[in-house]
Amino acid sequence: MQHATPMLRQYHEIKRQHPGTLLFFRLGDFYELFFDDAIIGSKEMEITLTARNREKGQPVPMCGVPYHAASSYIARLVRKGYRVAICEQTEDPKKSQTKLVRREVVRIITPGTAIDSQLLESRDNHYLAAVCGGGLGMGVAFLDLSTGEFVATEFTGDAAWESVLEQLDCFSPREILFPKSLEPLFKPQKKSEESTAENGNANRQPAAFHLTNCEPSLNPLDDWLFAFEYARGLLLTHFDVASLDGFGLGGKEIAISVAGAIIHYVRETQKAEANHISGISYFEPNDYLMLDAPTIRNLELIDALDGARNNTLLGVLDETVTGMGSRLLKQWLLRPSMRLGELNARLDAVAELKNALILRDRLQAELKRVADLDRLMGRVSLGRATPRDLVALKTSADTIPNVKEMLSDANSSLLEILNESLDELADLRQLIGAGLVDEPPATVNESGYIRSGYNPELDELRAISSSGKGFIAAIETRERSRTGIATLKVKFNNVFGYFIEISKASLKNIPADYERKQTLVNAERFTTPELKEYEQKVLGAEERITEIEQQLFTEIRQSIAQQTRRVQATAQALATLDVLLALAEVAARRNYCRPHLTEDDEFYIRTGRHPVIEAMGERFIPNDTYLNNSTDRLLIITGPNMGGKSTWLRQCALIAVMAQIGSFVPADEARLCILDRIFTRVGASDNLARGRSTFMVEMTETANILNTATPRSLVLLDEVGRGTATFDGLSLAWAIAEYLHDNSQHTAKTLFATHYHEMTDLAKLLPGVRNYQMAVKESGGSIVFLRKVVEGTASKSYGIEVARLAGLPRAVVERAREILTNLEANELDVMGRPKLARHLPSRKKAPQPTLFEAANEVVIDEIRNLDLQELTGEQAVQVLQKLKERVM
Ligand code: ADP
Ligand code: MG
Repeated sequence: MQHATPMLRQYHEIKRQHPGTLLFFRLGDFYELFFDDAIIGSKEMEITLTARNREKGQPVPMCGVPYHAASSYIARLVRKGYRVAICEQTEDPKKSQTKLVRREVVRIITPGTAIDSQLLESRDNHYLAAVCGGGLGMGVAFLDLSTGEFVATEFTGDAAWESVLEQLDCFSPREILFPKSLEPLFKPQKKSEESTAENGNANRQPAAFHLTNCEPSLNPLDDWLFAFEYARGLLLTHFDVASLDGFGLGGKEIAISVAGAIIHYVRETQKAEANHISGISYFEPNDYLMLDAPTIRNLELIDALDGARNNTLLGVLDETVTGMGSRLLKQWLLRPSMRLGELNARLDAVAELKNALILRDRLQAELKRVADLDRLMGRVSLGRATPRDLVALKTSADTIPNVKEMLSDANSSLLEILNESLDELADLRQLIGAGLVDEPPATVNESGYIRSGYNPELDELRAISSSGKGFIAAIETRERSRTGIATLKVKFNNVFGYFIEISKASLKNIPADYERKQTLVNAERFTTPELKEYEQKVLGAEERITEIEQQLFTEIRQSIAQQTRRVQATAQALATLDVLLALAEVAARRNYCRPHLTEDDEFYIRTGRHPVIEAMGERFIPNDTYLNNSTDRLLIITGPNMGGKSTWLRQCALIAVMAQIGSFVPADEARLCILDRIFTRVGASDNLARGRSTFMVEMTETANILNTATPRSLVLLDEVGRGTATFDGLSLAWAIAEYLHDNSQHTAKTLFATHYHEMTDLAKLLPGVRNYQMAVKESGGSIVFLRKVVEGTASKSYGIEVARLAGLPRAVVERAREILTNLEANELDVMGRPKLARHLPSRKKAPQPTLFEAANEVVIDEIRNLDLQELTGEQAVQVLQKLKERVM
């Protein structure tokens, strides 16, 4: 860049300090992008690519957007995963000593740190994640910069990386930070590599980086940012504490390292302290009911398989009235609790609110007036709050005395605790009320938001500035009579300031003190010494007004930022109250019952319903469920397609999830043991996963279940084995069921829906297996689905009847019936082979191959030791005979 202009040199210097970003370089009223940034930017923002310095023979690619419209362009880039550095002119060009204005990057907007409302969905959290670690273990931390929520955890052992992946899938971050040295882990694996994963555990490969629920932007950073000592120091200063033990981080070096990297990154990108990140909590994934990504998806907790949000459990339960409440409910659903005490406290509160209709309505009416305080405080502490934000804070806080009053008679301990944590914030309300007008303009660039009476100097300047109108009118009248020109006007514009305008037609009697300023087609413009003097005074006043207002506003904002923790604690309590009210509301409206949670091993639901299907307004037939860890640990459910098998399975899991967030449940009675994990595996054809071979996905997920389920888990297997040939499928399904039943470490409560009727034979062989079927009624050659779960085995699969219902041509239906009769009579399958059932093991046999091999070893040894010289022909035959018997 030998011939670079000083400005481009400045550009290059700033660009060098911010690698990996698109630099928005402020030039007057525009943000400009140069060089490669311009090429990418023009394409991604769909704006014209131009060039600068073309005349000097060194064209520089360039594109730009007006500063006032920049936020939507930035949002577009960030949504696509880019990081945008905003470089502003940090001195007034008018006051600049040199020709080159000083410029600085004031903020970097990245997918994980965006806090502009354009980029945030009020009902969703918006996480930035960091991951680090190695052979000794791995840590992961999550921050929602918009609200200040900050958590971290760590894992040791072989499966640490898999556990990190699970957490990533659960939090669905927008951006992941990790040390450059870990880059290989984050490379998506190619198809060919995937198949080598079958080698078994011998040389265990780390699982491929693959998230189901999100596609975060990946951001490798220098390794030193993740160094423990650096991270610890940074966290201690940031939180202003002497030890991190209070956050549960004592001894958790990897968690500290990731958390530190996040704080570093936030400070780097925001160029601010981010004091609203006022704490961090170490979370123990084992404290939560673990739901992995396929389960969250299959159960349609948050998003429906068809993408809609209404037909989901969240959709049914989300009667919250604030964004904070909605986000909290979603967090509860993704990480239900396992703590009995906490759950009972929530259930007590829901029970109380459920019965208090009027109180509930009044509380919700108050909460509706509450703004998104978490995010608002985020903007306050990042220095980005507007006067409107602060007024919204006051309006929100104004509701608190009413809420406290309403809660004062509450009996349940959780409501009492919430009431105690609500801070009336009287000082803040007073400060904002005194300082700001009730309806301020949207930005600090317009003035008029500081209330009169708050600052004497400001009041005085405003008087000067507003006296102007009368003053101008007076001059106008006086000059008209002095000159006798009735059309004379006194005007103002931004370029020329104040002037007198006289039309060309009347230009005769111009007084001598009029000084020509500008000539227009039809008029001339003049100024006078008097106008000049006045202009100085007024313009000076206005400039000063803007200055003072901004300064006062900053002061107010800063003193509010100091109270961040108080506001956050109150916001948290309001959010919890909002969720409890929502749960109470749904419980009352939909006639749910209070679940009885226990720590024993029984799982019992009387007349349970599927909360989402029921809410869709269809008549729902309730069903019972009973499971324990002994006699009823594996339920095999058969029945025709469309019979209601999948629905029943999901309904049981949904009821368990609801109970473990503290919600009432759609049943008449529910006695439920606390679960540690819920697994679901839905047969390949029921659910098309993206990308990978569906059968491979099915088996990967099943492997995960078999390796991780515990006696406190609930496993739903829906048509597992369907994705492959019949023999393979049935054999796998059978072996999987046996394993879940027998392997004491992984004996989970299991619901297994299958169309392999042969599976029902398991009940004869294994003590913990029960057979259930979806009842159907046959009448006059057709069938009616009763959707009732009853004990027993479906006698037929009714596939042909279902096909007939679906409108298959009559000829095909009849021909199928014919074939079926033949098949059944001959006991042969379609391919003419003997029917499968006869070949299934009648009993699970001892591990034969090993015994057999051992016997052979002995025989082989004996053969080796035979001395053939010593044997007659007859003896030889006898020996052979004996040996042969031994290996039969
Ligand atoms: P299967 O898995 O046996 O093929 P599904 O569970 O998919 O059957 O259910 C088929 C249809 O029946 C679904 O559309 C569902 O809405 C409806 N359904 C299932 N169970 C019930 C029930 N208990 N009451 C009313 N409708 C039901
Ligand atoms: Mg099904």
